[in-house]
Amino acid sequence: MRYLLPDCLYTPHGFSAGLGVVVNDSGHIVAISENAPEGAKTLRLNGCALMPGFINSHSHVFQRMLRGQCERASTNESFWSWRQKMYELVDILTPAQMEIIAAHTFGEMLQSGYTTVKEFHYLHHPPGGGNYKNPHEMALRIQAAATAAGISLHLIRVAYLNVSESSQKRFADKNIQDALAQTSALQLELSVPVGIAPHSIRAVLPEGIAACAQWARDNSAECHAHVAEQPREIEWSQKEYGVSPMQLLAQHGVLDSNFTAVHATHLDPGEIEAAGSAGITACICPTTEANLGDGVPATQELLNAGTQLAIGTDSQSEIDPFQELRLLEYNERNRLGQRQILDPVDLINATTEAMTVGSEARFLSINLTHTSLLGIAHEQLASALVMAGRPECIQSVWMGSGWVENAQSSSPFVALCRELT
Ligand SMILES: [Zn+2]
Repeated sequence: MRYLLPDCLYTPHGFSAGLGVVVNDSGHIVAISENAPEGAKTLRLNGCALMPGFINSHSHVFQRMLRGQCERASTNESFWSWRQKMYELVDILTPAQMEIIAAHTFGEMLQSGYTTVKEFHYLHHPPGGGNYKNPHEMALRIQAAATAAGISLHLIRVAYLNVSESSQKRFADKNIQDALAQTSALQLELSVPVGIAPHSIRAVLPEGIAACAQWARDNSAECHAHVAEQPREIEWSQKEYGVSPMQLLAQHGVLDSNFTAVHATHLDPGEIEAAGSAGITACICPTTEANLGDGVPATQELLNAGTQLAIGTDSQSEIDPFQELRLLEYNERNRLGQRQILDPVDLINATTEAMTVGSEARFLSINLTHTSLLGIAHEQLASALVMAGRPECIQSVWMGSGWVENAQSSSPFVALCRELT
């Protein structure tokens, strides 16, 4: 049993001095206490604050390969032309390449402050369709990569039915029953939590999305979907169904506290009310949404209506949880012409691991002597981390019963980058 005693410890009200956390030998929190319990070995973390790790609730890990690839000034570039570049990558990736990319990128996430990643996984099949010998080959590669990196993984298996382009054959399930059966089989095959994700209203009919949501309820799993990321999706939904995407999901009983709407960028007041009263989670991915030119969500209205908040690295254009929180607030300041809208402590509480008795210990030790944090009192530390924190402020990451050591070689990833880009 260890007693970790930093200069200040994060609590649901902000950082507090004089508190430590007791972790047992199986890596779980036993107590938050002012004193070391008898028999515990004290680890004094001088010059450090301790806080829970961040949860990355939306990731397409392979898209790390696109970083810096589609950024030079050009005309008529959009989300849709970026997606075409992404599909060129989809068309060639092998399972071995996926594992190399994921191992590196999960390691980058961990070093940057994310201790859990929820991978939105849709590369199920070989290029052009068909099956790997083990139909869960790609998911197993992702799980192996997470184990190698030392990050906690949730595999969110994507259901994708309406294939309109050849690249999408790698994603496609035969029908909704097949998608549910594959997800159930994956639950048995993997040793990590498995969720389900009807990709979007473009990819799965509303009845299929409702079936996925029911599968999630029946299996104590999470249900995620991309919702209202691009104006074109809203127009398409209006034309096809006569309502906007969130209203469509509400009509089909999809919205509840088990459901995560990824992006939730373009919602009208009625949709915000429906999302909030159902208690869904809105997973906002501010750096990716800015990178893709998606638009800015009405975060304050969503939270006021009762929606829960999560963040995601999505396209991996950058990996930095402090930057995601900063952009959430700055987007609101620019949108509303006001200041101090989303409270930094609320933002950290919403997007980090539970730091309660019985939870697995997943902590970040923050170097208080880092240039960007020098002179910050612990009462202002949560605000300073949201406004000026960066991954370099993290001294080390604690997962379970000890500090994470980054023992992975970067050579395979660097070689693959040279080969593919
Ligand atoms: Zn996504």
